[in-house]
Order: sequence, then C-alpha cells, then structure tokens
Amino acid sequence: MKTDNKYTSGDIEYAQSEDIGIMRWKDRGSKPVTLISNMHNSSDTSTVLRKNGVDHMPKFIDKYRRCKMCSTKAKEKRSNMICSTCEITLCKQCFKPYHKPT
Ligand SMILES: [Zn+2]
Ligand SMILES: [Zn+2]
Repeated sequence: MKTDNKYTSGDIEYAQSEDIGIMRWKDRGSKPVTLISNMHNSSDTSTVLRKNGVDHMPKFIDKYRRCKMCSTKAKEKRSNMICSTCEITLCKQCFKPYHKPT
C-alpha cells in the first residue's frame, strides 16, 4: 500500500466512548463536521460538551456534600448537586459563577 500525502478533505477523527461513537472531520475551509451516533436507542440524549464550560450540566446525587466554592469550615454549605462534567459538588448559587470564564 503506497502512502499518498495529498490530503483532499482534511483529517478524520474518530472517538468512541461506551455507547456513543463520535466522528469528526474538517471539510475544506468550512466548519468541522461532528457526527454523533448513538448505538443504543435514541432515548439516551447526548449532549455535546464544549470546553468553555457553557454546556456543563448539573446532576443530582443522593448524598449531600460540601460545596467546593462557598463552603468553609466556619460556614458549611451542602448541596446534592454536582457538575456531571467536572464531577465536583456545587450549590445552586455557585454553579454558574464556577463555570464562568474569568
Ligand atoms: Zn456554593
Ligand atoms: Zn463543570
């Protein structure tokens, strides 16, 4: 098989997590194309997470834990909400400020 270094349509990236396959490629000059295929059924809604934190989603857990942002030894603040992406505990007041770019 000979190697051809003439790229015609850019790189193709393929990533696969447990149930979801993600394929991404760049069309010449235009926006990158992302294709997400869910190998399960479609009841599993998939969210595309951006690095800037805009799409971080809160998730509720059984236990109450101390808020990573505002809880102190003197004044404990507990929450049963975590960020599903960062996997840290945040209360309602802190969820937004924590993810705001500074
Ligand atoms: Zn807090
Ligand atoms: Zn987060």
